[in-house]
Amino acid sequence: MVPLPVTRFAPSPTGLLHLGNARTALFSWLYARHAGGRFVLRVEDTDAARSTEASVTALVDDLAWLGLDYDAGPGREDPLGPYRQSARAALYASRFAELVGRERAYHCFCSATTLELARKRQIARGEPPRYAGGCDRLSPAEVQWRLAANEPASLRFRVPASQTIRYEDLVRGAQSFDSATLGDFVIRRADGSASFLASNAIDDAAMGITDVLRGEDHVANTPRQILLLEALDLAPPRYGHLPLLVGADGAPLSKRHGAASVSDLRDEGYLAEAVLNLLFRLGHTPAAEGWHTDAERRAGFRADHLGRAPARFDLDQLRHWQQEAVRRADHGTLSAFVPALVPAAESDAFLAAVRANVILPADALRYATIVYGDLPEAPPAVLAAISDGGAALYAAAAAALDAGADWPALTGAVRAATGRSGKALYRPLRAALTHALDGPELGPLLALMGPRRARARFSAAGALCAASVA
Ligand code: GLU
Repeated sequence: MVPLPVTRFAPSPTGLLHLGNARTALFSWLYARHAGGRFVLRVEDTDAARSTEASVTALVDDLAWLGLDYDAGPGREDPLGPYRQSARAALYASRFAELVGRERAYHCFCSATTLELARKRQIARGEPPRYAGGCDRLSPAEVQWRLAANEPASLRFRVPASQTIRYEDLVRGAQSFDSATLGDFVIRRADGSASFLASNAIDDAAMGITDVLRGEDHVANTPRQILLLEALDLAPPRYGHLPLLVGADGAPLSKRHGAASVSDLRDEGYLAEAVLNLLFRLGHTPAAEGWHTDAERRAGFRADHLGRAPARFDLDQLRHWQQEAVRRADHGTLSAFVPALVPAAESDAFLAAVRANVILPADALRYATIVYGDLPEAPPAVLAAISDGGAALYAAAAAALDAGADWPALTGAVRAATGRSGKALYRPLRAALTHALDGPELGPLLALMGPRRARARFSAAGALCAASVA
């Protein structure tokens, strides 16, 4: 029997959750959920200077908002935890001792300045920068006295001189690296903290992670982590590296593409289902087109449908999925869209009237203002449409309202009075009632607006026609 997959999302809590990381989280979650496996949240907070508790809280909130529940993680501990790396130093220490005992790691006393000079020399010679060596050849006695003298030392992993590291990437296919290009790398910093390369790989093994999906920026780390795990007799997980998210212009995704953090999108009023439908397609080609529910995403996710080409974020696509999400959302989800100026008793009717035309709460506010507040200044095209109606049209409309007509009766009366139909009939009425040339269906809007307000708007339109004739 194939064991069920265990995946994880391993963010560093140094800021807000951006779309790229949210996609990594979604795909890792789907990878596990598709097969009935487990999904784990591990907080990689070994960088004490940059990690904040506020970022952890925000991450947890964002994942909850996206519906990406985890089986183990902060606040959901189990025997394989703790799920914050800052609480796992003892485990790393014992693994480091093992590596030193096996002579697979050594103390390095090189200062930052020495390392930097060596790096510059290598770059000047056109060589890839890597540890130039030196401390790997120190005698055990020298290491002992320098440690006894409290000389700061990091711990470096000894990369085998010539070995080909091969692995099958879930996204990129067969990969192979020559160990000679890697250079010995730091696994414990001089301040005693575990490096990313070490803590990340050791935890994947300790937490039984079977499959790692992560950003392409980690490709170069993978052969190092495989070597490290092998040196500890631990099985590496399967790795898959997701292509970068780029904007429509092909540049790495940033705020200027309208791709803010997940919490920014939520604050603007985007619905989680819209964000999820978008992310589901960024680097993943679903078998079926169109809208996917949560259950359909779980059933339809395929690791072999993950692509290598850079995934393009497009704000228009997000707006498209948002429109779909609004159309499908229940009134409870959309209640946050209803502005305070809508009377509570009319909230459902208001939503029903405007929903098809609303993408963001700002749109709902615009329509609420049209219905319950003052009309915005009419732009020239609207003024032209109002004038085109002519005073008689608005007089007929006002008279119909006075007679208690609803929208069908009103348009019937105006048609009879003016002989107009179709666009020639509806365009001036819409212009007069809303100071816009498009928007939600007028019937429900008129019902919410009420005859008094509508009548005043027809009178104003009529006055405008009279004035322009005069
Ligand atoms: N903390 C790392 C990051 O945020 C995790 C990388 C990984 O998933 O292995 O990039």
